[in-house]
Amino acid sequence: MKLSQNGWVVIAGLGPGNEALVTQEVRGAIGEATDIVGYIPYVNRVEPREGLTLHATDNRVEVDRATHALEMAAAGKRVVVVSSGDPGVFAMASAVFEALESNAERNPEWLKLDIRVLPGITAMLAAAAAIGAPLGHDFAAINLSDNLKPWSLIEKRLQLVGEAGLAMAFYNPRSKSRPHQFARALEILREACGAETLITFARDVTKPGQELLTVPLKDATPEMADMRTVVIVGNRDTRRVGNYVYTPRYAAEG
Ligand code: SAH
Repeated sequence: MKLSQNGWVVIAGLGPGNEALVTQEVRGAIGEATDIVGYIPYVNRVEPREGLTLHATDNRVEVDRATHALEMAAAGKRVVVVSSGDPGVFAMASAVFEALESNAERNPEWLKLDIRVLPGITAMLAAAAAIGAPLGHDFAAINLSDNLKPWSLIEKRLQLVGEAGLAMAFYNPRSKSRPHQFARALEILREACGAETLITFARDVTKPGQELLTVPLKDATPEMADMRTVVIVGNRDTRRVGNYVYTPRYAAEG
């Protein structure tokens, strides 16, 4: 990737945790950056060095963080906005474009900035690989946080996607601020997908304390998930073979 010496913004994915999964392209961009912007634990993954300013902020201010990144790039800085996993999956890439759009009248010159999104390995794919191949057929990725959408919409999507027979991956499954919602999600899934459908809880994937637990939906409890877990629900054909869980590539007529 050729980056200019003028200001730019790169939105980079750091992958699920294991440093071996950070791409060469992302390492290269970080190597050329003057400024790193992101949520505290992700910025902490960047090695400090002379000439590099680290701007670590709290998670709930994504658009402010994105606006700050664009301001700095417009002033000639080389800015890397870091996300975990892939920056396009429930992360900073959309936040940067939201900030760009809402500033388009005030700062039209920002539209000409060199902005690039560098992909990373998202949590559900790292988790799927650790388990076997549970996402080997059609699937949907759903964010269970109701920060940016109403819970009623999440319930509706769980219901319809379950009925459509797709496997599912859930991000932000359960937090202390909304303890009852994941229990409700499990209830909907048991109904829509069938109680024997396999569900996997994958915690701290690719990190030293990685934990994987697979049970049928009828035995799943809310405590099995937290914010460091990505949850994968199979389809009706998802099965175990030896120590692995996989979904065949074929499906019968729905
Ligand atoms: N952009 C990130 C997702 C950010 S949302 C990505 O592509 O992976 C944060 C959620 O991602 C967490 O609540 C959790 O559900 C999931 N997650 C991120 N890293 C994880 C990991 N190493 N193990 C398990 N889940 C992870």
